[in-house]
Amino acid sequence: MTIYDVIIIGAGHNGLTCAAYLLKAGYSVLLLEKRSVPGGGATTEELMPEQAPGFHFNRCAIDHEFIHLSPIVEELKLNQYGLKYLFCDPVVFCPNPDGKYFLAHRSVEKTCSEIARYSSRDAKKYAEFINFWQRFINSTVPMFNAPPKSILNIARNYDLKQFKDLLSLLGGIDKTLDFVRTMLTSAEDLLNEWFDSEFLKAPLARLASEVGTPPSQKTLAFGAMMMAMRHHPGMARPQGGTGELTKALVRLVQSQGGEVLTEQVVKKILIDNGRAVGVSVANGQEYRASKAVISNIDAKRLFLNFIDAADVDAADPNLRERLDRRIVNSNESILKIDCALSEPLRFEYHNHRDDYLIGSVLIADSVEQVEIAHHDTTLGKIPDLDPSMYLVVPTVLDPSMAPEGKHTLWIEFFAPYQIKGAEGTGLHGTGWTDELKNKVAERVLDKLAQYAPNLKKALMARHVESPAELGERLGALKGNYYHVDMTLEQMVFFRPLPELANYQTPIEGLLLTGAGTHPGGSISGMPGRNCARVFLQSQEPIFQPFIEVWKLCQSKLNPIP
Ligand SMILES: Cc1cc2nc3c(=O)[nH]c(=O)nc-3n(C[C@H](O)[C@H](O)[C@H](O)COP(=O)(O)OP(=O)(O)OC[C@H]3O[C@@H](n4cnc5c(N)ncnc54)[C@H](O)[C@@H]3O)c2cc1C
Repeated sequence: MTIYDVIIIGAGHNGLTCAAYLLKAGYSVLLLEKRSVPGGGATTEELMPEQAPGFHFNRCAIDHEFIHLSPIVEELKLNQYGLKYLFCDPVVFCPNPDGKYFLAHRSVEKTCSEIARYSSRDAKKYAEFINFWQRFINSTVPMFNAPPKSILNIARNYDLKQFKDLLSLLGGIDKTLDFVRTMLTSAEDLLNEWFDSEFLKAPLARLASEVGTPPSQKTLAFGAMMMAMRHHPGMARPQGGTGELTKALVRLVQSQGGEVLTEQVVKKILIDNGRAVGVSVANGQEYRASKAVISNIDAKRLFLNFIDAADVDAADPNLRERLDRRIVNSNESILKIDCALSEPLRFEYHNHRDDYLIGSVLIADSVEQVEIAHHDTTLGKIPDLDPSMYLVVPTVLDPSMAPEGKHTLWIEFFAPYQIKGAEGTGLHGTGWTDELKNKVAERVLDKLAQYAPNLKKALMARHVESPAELGERLGALKGNYYHVDMTLEQMVFFRPLPELANYQTPIEGLLLTGAGTHPGGSISGMPGRNCARVFLQSQEPIFQPFIEVWKLCQSKLNPIP
């Protein structure tokens, strides 16, 4: 039997990123993926080969921002493995029922000119608002790109500009307190503080809520940075679809001698003398690792379902209960609609321009509508009376994803995982049935057709995936698209729990990566890169930390200009 240095459970983009760094450092790696295609939330698939041959769909992630805040694409030279990013400009379009619309370009200045058509005050405030969040992002990026409890690694990541931006937020006691106050408020409060116009506040609230909570949620003001990121570093999509990121990573992994085995459902972590030594998969086959087993799936599933309780208890008698009860996830998931279209959408009532369709299109009529979209899901209700949604027509930016002249439509609609009152029925007892998901999809499409009346005529085929099906496909607990909710008490050194926050676990040789670890969900690769760093540091000689301190002092005393 081959013994690998490292086995990674799940070939999501974070597992693959982690593998790439380990292979480059000379370790042998095996990735075991449950699906027939690697990538997890980062795949592009020909979803309806019979009804819509040649149409390629991003089944989950589409717009990539966070990965451009990391050095991963350059460090791993992913362009040499076929990855090419296409940046969006404009980045956001949101038509309002009153005839106004928000059109955001990559340039803040151009965006302000668009806003100024309706409100010169809001246009001016927008520039200041984005500037604040840009400084926030710039000064937190060094933390995203390091294990959260590794002060030295974080400190080494700071350059002068980032340090200055940090000081601009935290310099002086009142400034610091005011910054903390901002972070403790909600996106809605913040938007009301800065802006007057609903046509502007509603899309910003919708984007802020992409962290997975209603805009009124206190302590989650940081969601407001989602718009700022679309200006810088910008929003991009791999040519050919999100799956091209996965394919580039797989090519890199394989070129370094790594193995990716698909249709391997990991069922159990093998523990020997308190140490993780391998895994067994659904057909009973065992795979062995001499140095580490790394999980791309969330800690709760890992420890509660895949490891014998006695082994977990021997390592930490409180862990199972803490994972079970202390990690709090909401009931929000996504109902995903993918359509093949004979022509692109036309926003007739908003001076249609084809470039509206380059970035993300938001149906967010008001902050209240966005609030209901998230609030109802928490309560187990489907917010389909007046649906808010996030949609993209990816083929406008990248025509290669459909047959010539044809288009695809990607719709994300927030929906509850467990429907209240339908417990025990439908798929996995969630209440979701084929009939219900299609009924909800119909309402979502009806709403979109109010803005783009040619939708129904253009619709050639559609595929609807309920939250229960999405959870099953991804192997994600309750269909949670971030594995663990991105709320403040579960972020950074609290993610997923303080004792598990630095990618290491109380079981020797068992590490965590993926969306459920710092800095969290989305396409960033950062959890994969950070985890690889922790593993590699654990393999270094004991005096390495002193060398790190020395290097840090050197780099700060003699900064590279
Ligand atoms: C509908 C939707 C839209 C999204 N849109 C965006 C977007 O536009 N931009 C963005 O940045 N993010 C978006 N996200 C979030 C993003 O897709 C995820 O946060 C990200 O893909 C997580 O990556 P990961 O590698 O950590 O985990 P995953 O992608 O979840 O990978 C985990 C892997 O483990 C595998 N696995 C699970 N269980 C087992 C098992 N027992 N044995 C073996 N393998 C197993 C899974 O099949 C999967 O491949 C979206 C998510 C969804 C669901």
